[in-house]
Amino acid sequence: MSERFFPDGMPPPLADATTLPFWRAAAEHRLVVQRCTGCGHTRLPPAPVCSECRSAEADWTQVSGRGEVYTYTIVHRPIAAGQQLPYVIAVIALADAGGVRMISNLVGASPDDVAVGMPVELVWEDMSAELAIPRFRPRHV
Ligand SMILES: [Zn+2]
Repeated sequence: MSERFFPDGMPPPLADATTLPFWRAAAEHRLVVQRCTGCGHTRLPPAPVCSECRSAEADWTQVSGRGEVYTYTIVHRPIAAGQQLPYVIAVIALADAGGVRMISNLVGASPDDVAVGMPVELVWEDMSAELAIPRFRPRHV
């Protein structure tokens, strides 16, 4: 099992037909973004239709998980028992994902040290045998 950052009682993400490939890849510790096979536009979160060309055809591209903090907020209220406070919710601008941004948690840093533009890298948190959540931590460059 991976390092843990959040308690078991965290509400799990909801998977549906559109997002299931993302979560299946995540369970294998692969971060993927949906890419329109019509025009190449990438999108995350996944959507059934391309916002650029309206094509419903898409595939999934694995990305590195490197990026930087686009913006963030510090949360002081728990949503699960046993949760350490405060914690950081961040929008991560992924470096090699066609310009998409991903909302996740920044872990492994004091909230006081988080800054816009901070380089980050992906870290997987195995919440169970079937569910891995992508989180991000500071990347020292
Ligand atoms: Zn498209």
